[in-house]
Amino acid sequence: MAISIIDMFTIGIGPSSSHTVGPMRAGLKFIKFLEQDFEISTVKSVKVELFGSLGHTGIGHGSDKAVILGLLGETPEDVDPDTVAGKVKQIQNTRTLLLAGKYLIKFDFSNNIIFHRRKSLPKHPNGMRFSALDAEDNILVSKEYYSVGGGFVVNDNMGDDQGVNSVEPALPYPFKTCDELVQQCKEHGLSISALMLANESVWRSEKETINYLLNIWHTMQYCIDKGCKTEGILPGGLKVKRRAAPMHRRLKATEQSNQDPLKIMDWVNLYALAVNEENAAGGRIVTAPTNGAAGIIPAVMKYYQNTKAQCDDNDMVKFLLTAGAIGFLYKENASISGAEVGCQGEVGVACSMAAAGLAEVTGGTVSQCENAAEIGMEHHLGLTCDPVGGLVQIPCIERNAIASVTAINSSRLALHGDGSNKVSLDKVIKTMVETGADMKTKYKETSRGGLAVNIIEC
Ligand code: SF4
Repeated sequence: MAISIIDMFTIGIGPSSSHTVGPMRAGLKFIKFLEQDFEISTVKSVKVELFGSLGHTGIGHGSDKAVILGLLGETPEDVDPDTVAGKVKQIQNTRTLLLAGKYLIKFDFSNNIIFHRRKSLPKHPNGMRFSALDAEDNILVSKEYYSVGGGFVVNDNMGDDQGVNSVEPALPYPFKTCDELVQQCKEHGLSISALMLANESVWRSEKETINYLLNIWHTMQYCIDKGCKTEGILPGGLKVKRRAAPMHRRLKATEQSNQDPLKIMDWVNLYALAVNEENAAGGRIVTAPTNGAAGIIPAVMKYYQNTKAQCDDNDMVKFLLTAGAIGFLYKENASISGAEVGCQGEVGVACSMAAAGLAEVTGGTVSQCENAAEIGMEHHLGLTCDPVGGLVQIPCIERNAIASVTAINSSRLALHGDGSNKVSLDKVIKTMVETGADMKTKYKETSRGGLAVNIIEC
């Protein structure tokens, strides 16, 4: 299945790509099915069942609200985050829902969405079943979907993903592995970003791809700015205080007088915190490659922008194209789902992508970019997913800050080498898959292990 850069970086809402954006897209797929292949006007109610990791942590991730938004016909790209609470409240109060924005059905929020904590669907930990009901609550038709990470949704046949190009186009420079990517680049004298831009031309013009990526970059910056200005407590009940805004004030106040040689690290931490606090608050976010790990790429890009006098939009496009190429390799050969391989698949992958992006715009060769990506993941192998209270807050927010600094360090280490290495990116990806398979389920976005059970929720 060919994946475009447009599928890799999408604009949506927080707090989770797999548990919020994915369920929303599944709801949209279901109403599309009802409209196209069924008689939607005969539907009097809808039942939604969430399984596996969605059943365990769906409430904390807002999966129920996301499903509702999808059934209403709202898209992750266009929904206004500030209107979500009001829409949900109205459905709760009226016990009705405007299916696909057109058909009034009955919908009892507490009975029509079921969280199965001890049941899973067979093909992925993030399973969902949507059933259309008649007036007596008999099932008319059911469909199953899986949210496989990064907002990608597949149907019961693990195909026909919304947003993923199901017809395999003939790419000018096809690659499935990093070895193939490096070989294609070397053979044709291309950087990773140039190769990616050429491949994207099978879907749209170069200008359209560049404009799309610039919009992604602008949305990332908007998210950083909003996170740096917003005070308060994050939703969900953990009472986590937002730190980015006061930290931003402090850094600004001491900007001129601060002689700390590592002060740039504070700014990198700030940018990651700002994005992930916005994500945790359900704000507008770029999935990169997931929401839980959405702060790393923007933080490293902003670091680059702040430290390079000559930096321009062209660099930012190159950064995203290179990072996207590395993201494809994980999507194609491993997983970007915390429920499938743990946090190594989210924060680890984002770190690896950011390290390669930074290496390219800093002048790294193709091999050095591979090396940067490999270092970025190698030191995240085995990282578990254990969000406290099922919320994408602890450890997720700080973890993005730490991984942003690791990405910068990975890139710097790679640029001090000649690109040769003992451990290739392909080997580290293979190791990540095997490690994820060996990881106990309790460490894979179920909130039944790790920090999630050792921190008292208050
Ligand atoms: S621990 Fe990592 S994978 Fe799990 S929810 Fe947080 S960011 Fe996502």
